[in-house]
Amino acid sequence: MNRYAVISDIHGNLYALQAAIARIATLQIDEVICLGDIVGYGPHPGECLDLVVKYCTHVVQGNHDEAVVDPDCADAFNGAAREAIYWTRDVLGPLHLNALNQLRSHQRLGPDECVMCVHDNPYPGPTDYVHDKQIAALAFRGVNTHICLLGHTHVPMVFEAPGSNPEEELTAASLTAYIPGHEVDIRLEPGQRYICNPGSVGQPRDCDPRASFAVLDLSRQTFTVYREEYDVAAAQAATQQAGLPTILADRLAIGA
Ligand code: ZN
Repeated sequence: MNRYAVISDIHGNLYALQAAIARIATLQIDEVICLGDIVGYGPHPGECLDLVVKYCTHVVQGNHDEAVVDPDCADAFNGAAREAIYWTRDVLGPLHLNALNQLRSHQRLGPDECVMCVHDNPYPGPTDYVHDKQIAALAFRGVNTHICLLGHTHVPMVFEAPGSNPEEELTAASLTAYIPGHEVDIRLEPGQRYICNPGSVGQPRDCDPRASFAVLDLSRQTFTVYREEYDVAAAQAATQQAGLPTILADRLAIGA
């Protein structure tokens, strides 16, 4: 049990999720982990939730998953995102809503629980988006394992911090950031800590519209991002047909 596929930020995009799962099936994976935001934005929240429940051994709750079941959280979202939250709440039945509500915000896994999983940030701060070294330096204060898996930014990224002590004050300059290329292994060195983000399956925001996910191999100590083509036009058409905001369909084509 050492080779994990890591998926995140599916956002109700069934076609992207199906493409990712099909590719994962070819990669000799032991378990699939989902870092949350299964729903929100996209037209197939129930179908995506069913697939995640079927394939994933560990699932954490994302902020969109939470907002669908907690009206107070939904108020913090901007226009199109909030509209999609309300739409998702209306179309899901009680079983799906209950499944979202039951998700935990943290999970640990691997030998000696050396991997922690959260959706956005292991250390609450002024911003939850761990998208640069400055914020990652703060986020590492919440990382007391070798590896922290997180999503939320929709951009695949790896941050490396020297040493294993979360009490140590880190500066941005002491971190290394990697932008993982498709199928390029990033080595995870012993004695360092890592924040690894697999990018987004259903709504990538790094100007590459392909579905993004990753493989964490604890035997080889590597984190590898994969990009997979899927039927973007079909996802856009389904988004339009559902009556969701047009911008949510448009952005899928440009990966932004
Ligand atoms: Zn998200």
